[in-house]
Amino acid sequence: MSLKTFDIGPIRPPSEAVSLLLRVTENCTWNKCRFCTLYKGHNFKTRTIEDIKKDIDAMAFYRDMILSYTENGKVDYNKATADYEKLETYQEKSCYNMVYTWIAFGKMKSMFLQDANTMVLKSDRLSHIISYAKEKIPEIQRITSYGRADTLSRITDEGYKELKNAGLSRIHSGFETGSDRVLKILNKGTNQSQQIEGGIKVKNSGIELSMYFMPGAGGKEFMEENALETAKVINETNPDFVRLRTFVVKEGSLMDELKSKGEFTECTDIEKVEEIRLLIENIKNCDGYIASDQIINLLENVKGKLDTDIPKIIGYIDSFLNLPRIEQKRYQMARRMGFNGDFTQLSMLSDEDLNRVNMYCNSLDENGFEELLRKYLNLYI
Ligand code: SF4
Repeated sequence: MSLKTFDIGPIRPPSEAVSLLLRVTENCTWNKCRFCTLYKGHNFKTRTIEDIKKDIDAMAFYRDMILSYTENGKVDYNKATADYEKLETYQEKSCYNMVYTWIAFGKMKSMFLQDANTMVLKSDRLSHIISYAKEKIPEIQRITSYGRADTLSRITDEGYKELKNAGLSRIHSGFETGSDRVLKILNKGTNQSQQIEGGIKVKNSGIELSMYFMPGAGGKEFMEENALETAKVINETNPDFVRLRTFVVKEGSLMDELKSKGEFTECTDIEKVEEIRLLIENIKNCDGYIASDQIINLLENVKGKLDTDIPKIIGYIDSFLNLPRIEQKRYQMARRMGFNGDFTQLSMLSDEDLNRVNMYCNSLDENGFEELLRKYLNLYI
């Protein structure tokens, strides 16, 4: 069997967990956000069209290999897996695994274009790549990419039209906050007007817009502003998805330096939930979907339609905020220790886990408790 591999970049949005990951660019065009260490020490690169096409061909090769075991409309995964065992290198196995996951769990639906800001490519170049991917892997129904707000604001309406026609369906963008002052603290290199201009252009083109926001990104100093200015950006752009990523200061990041110097005061878990409440309360006339689809968010069930579900979501948040403090703490600790359920489901914890949770909650003062929560949180970022 000849060696067939393709490049796989380091990250993708959680919603692209079962997508094919096509590495179109490498690393990040900006690479200076104070909270992010992902691409530090690596320069941005555009991959050649030839290399990208070879990667698409390799994906199609594994797709054909796995689908060749289809009988009566169903893939025999036991037989397909035997091929996996014959692959010799770790890289081949990783590539095979991705295509297998895309078929078995992703229903061959989606492709995500890596890395951090692929939208920076000229629209005709990116359209060419998307068209080739759709030609070679016609099962794909959705093609998505990351794009920074400043980049999105610079793409012309014609550029978006070309990309939409080629098959680009959704753009994920880490807006992080709508506040210009908080964007400066984060050194995000973008501003609110670029977010609004870029967001409106994406929406007008018919491409879906998925925005990421970070409750707590302004620290205790800018809690209210972070929520209200973010709500303003959402209200102006009406994104298809608002996705929450609770902000945590990563140890060793430049934000950690600001925190050590006393220039940034990290919010508590509860303050971040209050900020989310304030944000949602101020979203008006939008009809997208809000999601809390990352383990780092304390309350996973902050989710629903922005036109109909806001009262329900606020009621849910309030039911947590109104709990006696000891019950909030029990849930916080359980969640940070890896508990996947909601705060209403703590009875699902094993006796052993519940004992550990109770021991931490009862023995630590509020400062020690927050410190331990942060230690756990740092394992996730
Ligand atoms: S734009 Fe994204 S990938 Fe680049 S440095 Fe900022 S957070 Fe990291």
